[in-house]
Amino acid sequence: MSQNKLPQAAQWTTDRALKQVNSQPTGLSNQAVQTRQQQYGENALAGKRQTSLLEKFTAQFKDLMIIVLIVAAIIAAFTGEGIDAIIILLVVVLNAVFGVFQEAKAEQAINALQEMSAPNAHVLRNGATMTVKSDELVPGDIVLLEAGDIVPADLRLIEVASLQIEESALTGESVPVDKQLAPITDPSAGLGDLSDLAFMNSNVTYGRGTGVVVATGMQTQVGRIAGMLDRTQERKTPLQENLAHLGKVLTVLILVVAVIVFVVGMIRGNETLVNMLLTAISLAVAAIPEGLPAIVTITLALGTTRMARLNALVRRLPAVETLGSTDIIASDKTGTLTQNKMTVEKVIVDGDVLDAKQTAGATSEDDQGLLASLLLLNNDTKTIDDQLVGDPTETALVQYNIDHQVNPEDFLAAHPRVAEIPFDSERKLMTTVNQMNEANDQLWVTVKGAPDELLKRVTRIQSNGEISPMTDQLREQLLTINHQLAVQALRVLAFAYRPVTTIPAEMTSKQVEQDLIFTGFVGMIDPERPEVAGAVAEAKSAGIRPLMITGDHADTAKAIAVRLGIIDANDQAGVITGAQLDALSEAEFSDQVEQYSVYARVAPEHKVRIVNAWQQKGKVVAMTGDGVNDAPALKAADIGVGMGITGTEVSKGASDMVLADDNFSTIVVAVREGRKVFANIQKAIQYLLSANLGEVLTLFVMTMMGWQILAPVHILWINLVTDTFPAIALGLEPAEKNIMQQKPRGRSSNFLSGGVFGNIIYQGLLEGGLTLLVYWLALTFPVHANATQVHADALTMAFATLGLIQLFHAFNSKSIHGTIFTAQLFKNRAFNWAILAAFILLAATIAIPGFNGLFHVTTLSGFQWLIVLSAGVAMILIVEVVKLFQRMASRRH
Ligand code: ATP
Repeated sequence: MSQNKLPQAAQWTTDRALKQVNSQPTGLSNQAVQTRQQQYGENALAGKRQTSLLEKFTAQFKDLMIIVLIVAAIIAAFTGEGIDAIIILLVVVLNAVFGVFQEAKAEQAINALQEMSAPNAHVLRNGATMTVKSDELVPGDIVLLEAGDIVPADLRLIEVASLQIEESALTGESVPVDKQLAPITDPSAGLGDLSDLAFMNSNVTYGRGTGVVVATGMQTQVGRIAGMLDRTQERKTPLQENLAHLGKVLTVLILVVAVIVFVVGMIRGNETLVNMLLTAISLAVAAIPEGLPAIVTITLALGTTRMARLNALVRRLPAVETLGSTDIIASDKTGTLTQNKMTVEKVIVDGDVLDAKQTAGATSEDDQGLLASLLLLNNDTKTIDDQLVGDPTETALVQYNIDHQVNPEDFLAAHPRVAEIPFDSERKLMTTVNQMNEANDQLWVTVKGAPDELLKRVTRIQSNGEISPMTDQLREQLLTINHQLAVQALRVLAFAYRPVTTIPAEMTSKQVEQDLIFTGFVGMIDPERPEVAGAVAEAKSAGIRPLMITGDHADTAKAIAVRLGIIDANDQAGVITGAQLDALSEAEFSDQVEQYSVYARVAPEHKVRIVNAWQQKGKVVAMTGDGVNDAPALKAADIGVGMGITGTEVSKGASDMVLADDNFSTIVVAVREGRKVFANIQKAIQYLLSANLGEVLTLFVMTMMGWQILAPVHILWINLVTDTFPAIALGLEPAEKNIMQQKPRGRSSNFLSGGVFGNIIYQGLLEGGLTLLVYWLALTFPVHANATQVHADALTMAFATLGLIQLFHAFNSKSIHGTIFTAQLFKNRAFNWAILAAFILLAATIAIPGFNGLFHVTTLSGFQWLIVLSAGVAMILIVEVVKLFQRMASRRH
């Protein structure tokens, strides 16, 4: 078995690996990359093979009904109905062409979607770090890995720093593997034992590393495992599945009607066997809604294109549908609700709260100066091209020093860092150890972090230049100051230090972050994003509940939540902390979940509990996330929302939608689009199915009454003209005005809910009824004496009515419940063109002498056209009145 063979790359030393792929630690040259891209092709797993246009075209004829129709037409040709047969075949071919067009369009949009969500990789080329699309990697590329990255190709690692990678997609083992550099030569080693390699599509969960690409695309380990490829298969959306089911039910029903029409028609004896057969089959072909799945896909796909323009990149098609039914939007605070642009506002030393701007003139000797140095010592900000680069919380601290005429680079050069414990959002602390004088005999441990966490580890306090023991009373006073700042929406960080003589042997939190000397607080403001308050209000009016999730202090979180309108200032409950959440059992939390809108001091693992609790209440939950630890919550949510700017590749990979601008209001915009897409699909379905019902009804009654019946070409032509253009154009309708004033439609709703099923039935009956009425009028009040001419007129008028009434009805379908007489009536340009094109095609078959003979119809007089058009207008008026009553009834509810 080839995949059990030990990959050669695992046995190479790091130097050998670089030589083997002809690379070097500074990376490939651009030239080499280009040549290799040609040689090795894309670094991508082969997805589903794209079908050619010709294959799509022939696939259109695989439908049994179509084959039967063609066979019948050929038989007709031999029995003397040559022209009929040719026209039927032409219409069938035209139908297939439109089918291909629809499918190709849907496929295009889906491909564009995949293109947009392609992951990135960080590489070293020509000695410079750059970000490239992962599918552009070639063997020999040097890839830089850090926590949150998805490994973009198979790598032989050449440098690691606490690197851990989770490889469950390949090995099934969910515990991350510690990576190292020594070659693995044991021939019995499995994939999971190859700790010197990193595999494509696995997730970096901790640490850093560098590796050289040894295999790309289908040559990688995942590329070789055939089963993995199925993942690229498109999933059907629940809507598409529902539709497929409905399609089957309708097919059976329509076939039954077609058989009845055929049998009764034969008994009546007005038509030849072949003609009657053709009519019955044409009816089946026209009435079976085979175009519906394509229309749904196109509408969904066009929706995603529009959403992408509005900064919401949908990664999976079903997400569009789910978005529209969102009940809960749980959002991170920093960066999504706020701007993540921190500024130091307040400095607290010696128990005094000072305005940051007023603290100029501090010297390195006093406590203000001491605090200012701690801000720099414990800080990962880099200066690149005179720009501060790093976490905004930290860049703000450096900026504070710059504003006070301290040069951070000079200061840090004099006090280099020798050890550290990185920040993590569980501990909410960060520690560094720096050299404090040139003799190198004194080191400082400096710790910064959340005040509540840091104060637990403090034993002394520095105040007015003196160090004294920390008392419970002092601690209480400090926590009170912290509270006073937090309620003003400030993020408060606490700072402490401890001199030591040697670097601690174990850099663990327990060993190092203890016995500290408290020095002061800094209060920072992170302004809200200006558009968020409006978006929160819009979400609420749409019956959607926004939740805030944050690592920040409860008071800070509440203050911002109140400003944004997420909770009311008087709301005493509303806020819960991670610690309080930990104290609740699943059952208790599930009972109380509806009370809380703000989750403070929470860690990523709490997010999964929040999602689960709401889902148990039957709610559709959208949840944001950016870190590698957020992936489980993003997957658990109905809509995982990733961050395009600050998000890690792993979190984006776990998301259904990625926000290009990290902005909360974009989620609300996407929900609005999702609702619109769903509504438009409902409109298209209502339009198409009621039209089909109208056709079936007309033919059925005509047969039963022993009247002349519409010919196969009539039915097929109407179906072609009215099915294709208006239905697709309805998918492009703009959103109705009140779309964000309605409650979410609920998890169990489908496209026939909300009165659509009933509408299909009565509107179908109405279309058929009006057509039959026009036919009956033409027979009963003839304008000619010649009986043949009277019949020809009646049939032509029935044909014209059945076709035109559908075009009029397309206008009705612009709004399922609302009146169509609004400013939006002619807003949809594509729709206007579609109706015009359909009208011309229909009218041409009747009005052009000679041509109309092919369709077995005659020209109509102005008066006759007037009757036909009146039926169309009646269709609009009657449906408007019914809608009015429906609205009145629902208001009374
Ligand atoms: P949100 O959860 O709203 O997006 P966040 O992601 O910034 O906010 P965390 O990063 O988990 O939240 O931060 C939690 C707390 O940890 C902060 O309130 C702050 O007190 C502290 N903190 C944040 N960044 C640092 C840092 N770089 N060094 C030390 N402490 C920090």
